[in-house]
Amino acid sequence: MREVIVLGATGSIGTSVLDVVDRHPARFRVHTLTASRNVEAMAALCRHHRPEVAVMADPKAARALSRLLGDGPGAPAVRAGEAGLVAAVRDGPADTVVSAIVGAAGLASTMAAVERGCRVLLANKESLVVAGPLLLEAARRGGAELLPVDSEHNAIYQCLPPSYGRDGVTGSGVRRVLLTASGGPFRTRAPESLSRVTPEEACAHPNWDMGRKISVDSATMMNKGLEYIEACLLFGLEPSAVEVVIHPQSVVHSLVEYVDGSVLAQLGNPDMRTPIAHALAAPERIAAGVAPLDLFAVARLEFERPDPARFPCLGLAVAALREGGTAPAVLNAANEVAVAAFLSHRLGFMAIADVVESTLAAVPSEPVTSLEQVMATDARARCAAEATIGRGGRR
Ligand code: NDP
Repeated sequence: MREVIVLGATGSIGTSVLDVVDRHPARFRVHTLTASRNVEAMAALCRHHRPEVAVMADPKAARALSRLLGDGPGAPAVRAGEAGLVAAVRDGPADTVVSAIVGAAGLASTMAAVERGCRVLLANKESLVVAGPLLLEAARRGGAELLPVDSEHNAIYQCLPPSYGRDGVTGSGVRRVLLTASGGPFRTRAPESLSRVTPEEACAHPNWDMGRKISVDSATMMNKGLEYIEACLLFGLEPSAVEVVIHPQSVVHSLVEYVDGSVLAQLGNPDMRTPIAHALAAPERIAAGVAPLDLFAVARLEFERPDPARFPCLGLAVAALREGGTAPAVLNAANEVAVAAFLSHRLGFMAIADVVESTLAAVPSEPVTSLEQVMATDARARCAAEATIGRGGRR
């Protein structure tokens, strides 16, 4: 029986995790659920899953949740704020932590989970982008098992040989990784119309039903840029060993090419419950509630190169990875600020890339020395990005 903490329980990933967990009551027990402000959704989850601890990052929301759930038998202990989040991970008995908070806000609790040596199901790619080397070193020291939930990284993980962790890239005959991308909702839209894109259009992903931030990231392909960085960090790959391939059907979730010419791929319907179930139960396989893949219905699998002019965010992310140091943290902070501004109608869609580019120029990269330094850089980058948006962005 695994005791599970779901960080970001009310979100798109959190909901899929709880759906899989619910199918296997003899294997998993929900110990802790966390959210930010969504009190109604959290109260419903608590009534259904009966966790021992519930955390709301927003203190006002935590008070409202306490009032709603009361303190009778079966009611969870309610905690508040980032300190409450970290304490719930650090002090609890749970051995499995799902990291599914959106953005760099997930870093502190993810760090606490790897330091404690948990099995960590990583959906929150931003924490790896912001503090990758620190997080990986903490995982190594803590003896944590870091399992990717991002469908592409989970696919790569499944296609790598069992010896990969020991032998690395060269020792295991891996030549490169092909990271697939759907191309999002604007893959074929006329480039001159992109500056008029609305948040609703950007969030209407053709294949995946996701939270609003990652949906916008998919539309700009910043999501693939963050995943590029995530792949290099998680699998110890040089940037030159990763290639992005647009695959509009989202059925092939990524591929690994070997030196003998073999290319292994993982396929499945675009449903996050597949990688979630894989990471929850590894090395076993459990039912995820996902319909079998019907290749006759899919019929065609297409692949194409991304257009750098249409998707400037992808190039910016790869450049930040090559620059190294704090550049990926600056990239991520600027993107979070720009996406929030776009979602609240303060910035045009194509100006997201401009804000990220000007922030990277304004906050030069430094070698990473500590978590405090990375967080200070994150804060400086957010101020610089807000200042650019305040001046009216560019496009
Ligand atoms: P959602 O926006 O759907 O959910 C985000 C969750 O994080 C919610 O529970 C939210 O609580 C909580 N949250 C938001 N802000 C904070 C904060 N400041 N402190 C603590 N908790 C907070 O996001 P997704 O589920 O789509 O994505 C989560 C992560 O998983 C992201 O990093 C994303 O990139 C990654 N991912 C998502 C995929 C998907 O299919 N959705 C696929 C692969 C990766 P509340 O509801 O109260 O606001």
